[in-house]
Amino acid sequence: MPIKPSHLNPHNLISFFQKCKSMTDFKQAHACLIIRGLSHPPPSLRPIISFASLDPSGDIDYALLLLFHTPSSRTLFLFNTVIRGLARRCCLDSLSNALLVFDRIHELYLAPNNFTFTFLLQTCANSLALSLGQQFHSMVVKNSIRGDVFVGNSIIQFYSVCGRLDDAQRVFDESNELDVVSWNSLINGCVRNGKISDALKLFNKMPERNTVSWNSLISGLVKFGCLDNARQIFDEMPTRNLVTWVAMISGYSQNGRPKEAVALFEEMQLFGWELNDAVLVSVLSACSQLGALSHGIWIHTYLQKNRNKIDSILSAALIDMYAKCGSINLAMQVFGSSFLKDVFTYTAAIYGLAINGHGEESLCLFERMKDEGIRPDRISYIAVLCACSHTGQVEKGFYYFNTMVNVQGIKAELDHYACMVDLLGRAGLLEEAERFIASMPIKPDNVVWGALLGACRIHNDVEMAQRVGNFLIESDWDHDGRYILLSNIYVESNKGDDAEEVRKTMRRRRIKRVPGSSSIEVNGVVHEFVAGDRSHEKTDEIYLAWEEIVREIRKVGHTAETKGVVFDVDEEEKEGLVGYHSEKLAVAFGLISTEPGSLIRIVKNIRICRDCHSAIKLFSMVFKRKVVVRDRIRFHHFEGGSCSCMDYW
Ligand code: ZN
Ligand code: ZN
Repeated sequence: MPIKPSHLNPHNLISFFQKCKSMTDFKQAHACLIIRGLSHPPPSLRPIISFASLDPSGDIDYALLLLFHTPSSRTLFLFNTVIRGLARRCCLDSLSNALLVFDRIHELYLAPNNFTFTFLLQTCANSLALSLGQQFHSMVVKNSIRGDVFVGNSIIQFYSVCGRLDDAQRVFDESNELDVVSWNSLINGCVRNGKISDALKLFNKMPERNTVSWNSLISGLVKFGCLDNARQIFDEMPTRNLVTWVAMISGYSQNGRPKEAVALFEEMQLFGWELNDAVLVSVLSACSQLGALSHGIWIHTYLQKNRNKIDSILSAALIDMYAKCGSINLAMQVFGSSFLKDVFTYTAAIYGLAINGHGEESLCLFERMKDEGIRPDRISYIAVLCACSHTGQVEKGFYYFNTMVNVQGIKAELDHYACMVDLLGRAGLLEEAERFIASMPIKPDNVVWGALLGACRIHNDVEMAQRVGNFLIESDWDHDGRYILLSNIYVESNKGDDAEEVRKTMRRRRIKRVPGSSSIEVNGVVHEFVAGDRSHEKTDEIYLAWEEIVREIRKVGHTAETKGVVFDVDEEEKEGLVGYHSEKLAVAFGLISTEPGSLIRIVKNIRICRDCHSAIKLFSMVFKRKVVVRDRIRFHHFEGGSCSCMDYW
C-alpha cells in the first residue's frame, strides 16, 4: 500500500491504519504521522502497537519503543498488549523487557490486572524463571485476583513447565473455577515431567476434553515410546487437527517405525490436510530409514511446487534422504541449489558424502564450511570423523577430534568416541583402539565396544574378539547382533565349537534374532524379502531369474563362498539358503521389474554377507547394472565388477 504524507490528515487516520497489512505499511504510516507533526492520539498508536506486538510478522522492539516514548500510549491495555507479545516470543530478552514494562506500570501508578499477571507468568514459564514467577504468584494472591480462571491457569502452567508438579497440583486443587485449559495445563505438566500414568488418570477424570487434551496425551505417549497406546488414543479421538497428525507421524518416524509413518502420512493426505514443514521433515526421515526414494522424490517435487523457498531444515532433510537412499548426486544437487547454506545443510551433505564413499569430497566440504565462517556443531564433527574413518585417515581424525574439544569447546560425547574407535579399528590399529577406550573420561557404552568388535572381525583378531565379544554379550545380552557377530568371527577363524557355544547361549537366553531382510522400491511400492522368501506374488519368476544370474556369474568365476555366511541365516533357514539370501532375491526382482540399464537400489537391515557381496559385484559386471546396497553399516555401490567399499566393511 503506497502511503504518501499528502494522503494523511487526522480525520482519515483510523481508516488509514485499518488498511495496513504489514510492519512496513505501519512504519510508513507512522513516518507520515511524524513528518506531518501530528500529535499521537491513542487510537492511532493502538493498531501499530497491537500489530507490532502480536502479529507473527510484527516487531516487538518497535512496539517497546513506541510504548516507552509516546505519552499517549500509556494505558494499561497497551502495556498488557506488549507483555502479551513478549510472552509469545521465546527470546532471551523477553523476560527482562517484560519486567521493564511492569516497572513502568508501577511508576505510572497504574494497577496491574488479571491480564498483566497472566502474560507475565507466561513469560516466566518460557524462561523457566522460577523465583520470579513465584513472586508474581504471591502478588496475584495479595491483589486478590487468584479466583480469575485465566490467572489460575497461567500459574498452573507456569509451575508445570518449571517442573514443580506439586505446586501446580496444589493451585489446581485450590481453584474454585477450573476449565478445560486448567486440566490441559496439569496434564501437560505430567507429560513434561514423565508422569504418563498420572496424565492418563487426569485425562480419564476430565469433565470435558478438547483437541488440546487429546494432543497432549498423544505427544506424551509418543515421547516415551508408547506408540501403540498413542495410536489407540489417535484412533479414538473425535476430531484431530494438524498437531495430532504431526505428533503421531513424527512419533513413528523418530522411534524407528518408518513404514507406519509413511502409511499414516498417506492417510493424512487422503483427508486433505495441509502438509506443514514439521510433518514433511518427519516423513523425509522415514523415507531415509526405508530407502524409499520415490516417496522422497514425491515430497521434493511437492515442495518445489508449493513453497517459494525451502528452508535449511527441510533442505537438510532432503539431502539426508537422498544420501541415505544412495543418490548422492541428487543430494548434492539439493545442497547446491539451497539458497541458505548453514550448518544443517552443510552437515547433511558432509555426512552424505562420507557414507557414500566420497570421503575426500566430504573432508573438502567440511573445510569449505569453515571457510564460509560457519561454525561446525557436534553433529558436523560426527560427519567429518565418519569421513576420516571411511578413508582410513587416522591422523586427520585425531586432528579433528582434538580441534573439536580444544578449539571449538565442544564436549566429546559417546558417539564421537565410537567414531574414533571405528576409525582406529578400521585402520587395523586394534590395540590403540582398546587403549583409546581405556583412556575415555566417560564410561564407554556398548556402541563404542561394538565398534571395536566390528573391527576385530575385519582384521581377524580372534583373541581380542573373544574378550570384547564376551564382555558385550554379558552387558548387552538382549542384542542379537552381538552374538551373531561373535559367532561369525569364530566361524571365520575355523573355531566352530566356540561359535556353537555362542549360539547355544543365545538360544538358552531366548534371544530372538532380527531376521535379515532386504527391501527394494519399484514404482513407488516397497517390496520386502527375507532369506528363502516365497511369499512374493512373482516368486517363481524371481527364483528363475536368480538361477539365471547364478549361471551367468559362474561363467566369470563365481563360486559360492560359505565362509562367514553360516550364521547370517537363521536356524530354520539353514538348508543351504546362502544362495537365497534376501538381497539376492531383491536383486533378482530388481532385474525383472526395472528398465534395462537402470539402477537397482536395495536396503538391507543387517550386514551384507561375503557371498552376496561377491555375487552382486559380478552381477553388476555381467548384467551391466549398477546396484546400490545400503546395509546396516554402510553403502555399497556396485559397478562393473567392483564395489565402492573396496571389499572392506
Ligand atoms: Zn548373503
Ligand atoms: Zn561393498
